[in-house]
Amino acid sequence: DSAGKFDDEALTLAAGSQRCRVLLPLPLAGPYDYLAPEGTALAPGDLVCVPLGRRESVGVVWDSSDQDDGEELPVERLKVVKSRIDLPPMTPDQRRFVDWVAAYTLTAPGAVLKMALSSAQALEPPPTRPVYRLVRPDIAQPSAGEVKLTPARRRVMAIAADGMARSAAELAREAAVGTGVVKGLAAAGLLERLEMPSRIEINAPDSARQGPVLSQAQGQAAAALRAMVDSKDFSVSLLDGVTGSGKTEVYMEAVAAALAAGRQVLVMLPEIALSVQVLERFEARFGAPPATWHSDMTQAQRRDTWRAVAYGEARVIVGARSALYLPFKELGLIVVDEEHEQAFKQEDGVAYHARDMAVVRASIGRFPAILVSATPSLESVFNVQQGRYAELRLPARHGGASLPDVEAVDLRRDKPERIPELGAGWLSPSLRQALAETLGRGEQALLFLNRRGYAPLTLCRACNHRLECPNCTALLVEHRLSDRLVCHHCGFTLRRPTNCPACGEADSLIAWGPGVERVAEEAAYLFPEARRSVLSSDTIYGPKAAAEFVRRVQEHEIDLLIGTQIVAKGHHFPQLTLVGVVDADLGLSGGDLRGVERTYQLLHQVSGRAGRESKPGRVLIQTHEPDHPVIEALVSGDRDRFFAAEAESRRDLMMPPFGRLAAVILSSGDLQAVEEVARALARAAPKAEGIQILGPSTPPLAALRGRHRRRFLVKTPRDQRPQSYLRDWLGRIKLPNRVRLQVDIDPYSF
Ligand code: ADP
Ligand code: ZN
Repeated sequence: DSAGKFDDEALTLAAGSQRCRVLLPLPLAGPYDYLAPEGTALAPGDLVCVPLGRRESVGVVWDSSDQDDGEELPVERLKVVKSRIDLPPMTPDQRRFVDWVAAYTLTAPGAVLKMALSSAQALEPPPTRPVYRLVRPDIAQPSAGEVKLTPARRRVMAIAADGMARSAAELAREAAVGTGVVKGLAAAGLLERLEMPSRIEINAPDSARQGPVLSQAQGQAAAALRAMVDSKDFSVSLLDGVTGSGKTEVYMEAVAAALAAGRQVLVMLPEIALSVQVLERFEARFGAPPATWHSDMTQAQRRDTWRAVAYGEARVIVGARSALYLPFKELGLIVVDEEHEQAFKQEDGVAYHARDMAVVRASIGRFPAILVSATPSLESVFNVQQGRYAELRLPARHGGASLPDVEAVDLRRDKPERIPELGAGWLSPSLRQALAETLGRGEQALLFLNRRGYAPLTLCRACNHRLECPNCTALLVEHRLSDRLVCHHCGFTLRRPTNCPACGEADSLIAWGPGVERVAEEAAYLFPEARRSVLSSDTIYGPKAAAEFVRRVQEHEIDLLIGTQIVAKGHHFPQLTLVGVVDADLGLSGGDLRGVERTYQLLHQVSGRAGRESKPGRVLIQTHEPDHPVIEALVSGDRDRFFAAEAESRRDLMMPPFGRLAAVILSSGDLQAVEEVARALARAAPKAEGIQILGPSTPPLAALRGRHRRRFLVKTPRDQRPQSYLRDWLGRIKLPNRVRLQVDIDPYSF
């Protein structure tokens, strides 16, 4: 077909060849000009292969723009597009989205396109594999005399009688013979050998299947969402309901409506590798597993899924933030589950927030977006209050399950006891007693501490030296399971030294403070009978391990879970009735804009793991600050009051969502260079009404991966976007090679 390579003849220039702009997946200022091959019209969106220097690159024919500054290369100097790639063109909506994200994040459109093309391999045709099928399905058993049929051959012919193509291995297995028999039949001319593209199987979801009977509140929310989908118009809804209220069941109704209308659906989850239960529920609801998209995929899975999305074969995609850039043929709904999660914010490369970009994508495609959370972000709550987002609430847990009873444990009075064999203890007498009762009743308990490893600090008793990462301004965290000290920022590791590296004293290094491994050690001492499991990203890696963990908890092979945030989210464990938060004060102090909000969300989520079915749940929160608004809100269950107070403090400072922020981060291995550029930038900052420049300052991670960092924050009023100011300002200085500049619009934390 027209897609193949053009012969060399056609590559020679001809007058009148069509000029086209091709965007390459590279961080260049804009598209490059090429010529379409003689006699071949290329249209915007076509995927093409073009010469680039001495190599070749894939690219996308881009729309012409009136902003071009007219400095066109003369036709004679233009290179000619080599070929059009045989894949569906990138739709106008996708192209607009790429341009929009690039302009918003102040990055090169090619850098965004790179995310959209996933990888060059994704564009190559899938490999084929040999399959065999009957030459003449009407004659499954040839008459004797023509070909000699052994019993083994007869069995293979019987299997092949249905006319379907199968691999030699499949046929051999089903017929219980060796593959040689299959190949022999092919050689004898009874089976024919074909090359079939080997691709993952995509099953079609059945939107007509019935979901569960919904409660009245659920039914109302579902009807509202279905109506949004049916209107085929842009809208944003915030589905806000307590943990276990059936939010997933409700948004699946919207998914069903979109599928029934012939649209593709994207469901975004913060940590898809850990979301086995959600995937299983999709399969149960629609009779087929959804396609998934996340970082933990093989090249082949990536290629096949990318194509299945482009051809419209994959109807529901459950994916991480990068799934936004997939080449949907007819996207008609995006659901962002756990919309408040930090994991949606990408900080490296193109810095963007996937929830916000999902809303943009929906507005470009004129379809609904649904944001889902039990603890929505302040941004989304604000957008509801401003009337921009519709709000749907589910106030009660499904089936009458009550919300857990939350109590604060005041660590100033209820002090954990020292354990002679172990040293410091971390579990207060009240929490120990609650654990004993729960385990005694044969129920499950979770101890939550959002800190991986054994101890966050290793300290010399003799000279007070602290072990720090040589590349980052960060402490090394002791991991006893792997017997290493690890930097959680750059991955640097070190075997735990026996002598202090500073003063040389022997056996003077002590572990300071708890991580999950240390709490597990205490739990083992206190409850030796309980079957325990430590759960963190060190012990659960990838979808298989996550699925196995969920199964073990559900089948009650574990009594006591000791885990980080990896266990806090989404899971439904009916036997789990007690949650103990070991240290609620982590994250309550410090200057981080979203620290308090995030702590509230996380503790609320982890509390929501308790008592999800008939047995009532109990949550004990250990803290030194029981009067802190976060703790009070968790104990009283008065979320809205907490949000109101948090919003008030942000409003006073004109912080997001009441104002806009952008961060400019400079980094270099050379401290002097980074400081010089910071000073030069500060001097170059133009004055502008309403715009505040804070900095340069040293961020909390003053050094990261061996690079020194300095930061500016740009604060603008809500109705004024900072991009044009930034473009003007940052364009005024020339950056030396060894200093890197990154812009982060709407930085998540700092
Ligand atoms: P959320 O997403 O709000 O945490 P889920 O959708 O996971 O809540 O629902 C919690 C549990 O209750 C799940 O096991 C779910 O299948 C069940 N559930 C919710 N609504 C219904 C319903 N209407 N009928 C039957 N089961 C339901
Ligand atoms: Zn480090």
